[in-house]
Amino acid sequence: MTGEDIYFAGVGDVHGEMYEMLGLLKKWESRLSFVLQVGDFEPHRHEADLQTMDAPGKYRKLGSFAHFYNGSAVFPYPVWFIGGNHEPYGFLDRIANNTEIATNCYYLGRVGTVELAGLKIVGLSGIYKEHLFEKRPPIEEIDRHSNADYIGFTENEVLQGLEFQRADILLLHEWPRGLMTPDNRLDVIDPEMVGNEYARMLVDSLKPRLVLCGHMHRYFCHQIVWPDDTITRVCCLAHTRSGSNAVEIFRLSGNRSIESLRSLDER
Ligand SMILES: [Zn+2]
Repeated sequence: MTGEDIYFAGVGDVHGEMYEMLGLLKKWESRLSFVLQVGDFEPHRHEADLQTMDAPGKYRKLGSFAHFYNGSAVFPYPVWFIGGNHEPYGFLDRIANNTEIATNCYYLGRVGTVELAGLKIVGLSGIYKEHLFEKRPPIEEIDRHSNADYIGFTENEVLQGLEFQRADILLLHEWPRGLMTPDNRLDVIDPEMVGNEYARMLVDSLKPRLVLCGHMHRYFCHQIVWPDDTITRVCCLAHTRSGSNAVEIFRLSGNRSIESLRSLDER
């Protein structure tokens, strides 16, 4: 380790359980420059926000974000998140990209970018839903629609993502298509159908060094080797309830390489 090393973390679906996320990162708290979260963050400010989230009744819980919103708790490092398919979009769709929604907590937007520690971060919120891909209803009309009509990304958002041209880190909620290999197919019914092709298009075009995603609530790592021998590491993270598989610590070295401390066996 040199003095120039920077540490950051990727975090899987939090589902409103902010203290669980902080607990999993406790050991690293003082060293983390920032945290990247991959959606289903559920930053509900109050009960009313729950009314614009798509989820069955038993999963509609206020969670602990309200403590951070009202200032009775504070994130100890900057947390940047994208949206998943269970978010209070009635809140998130009405704020600008990169808004600080609570101290040290930033929403990257439906599609957005930010530079952190010299790394270009790009994010796409939501999942692929065929009926929303061409057009999602405006948020002002949410009273006339199902909350499920707001969980998908649009073609226009994918195109905006492609316009960023390159990224060091890409944040996705749903996995990119095509991660399964004959010897690493998970125990899913149809491995070829895991993830979506538009997320994959962003990966193939932006060629980030690191992709972080969530949604499936399971840990899975994969490397894509490009023809020029550069590598994209895809890191799918689990739900914070499942413990250490929900977080991954990365080191950005002085030579700008990004290494996972899990793969280095330093955890
Ligand atoms: Zn989730």
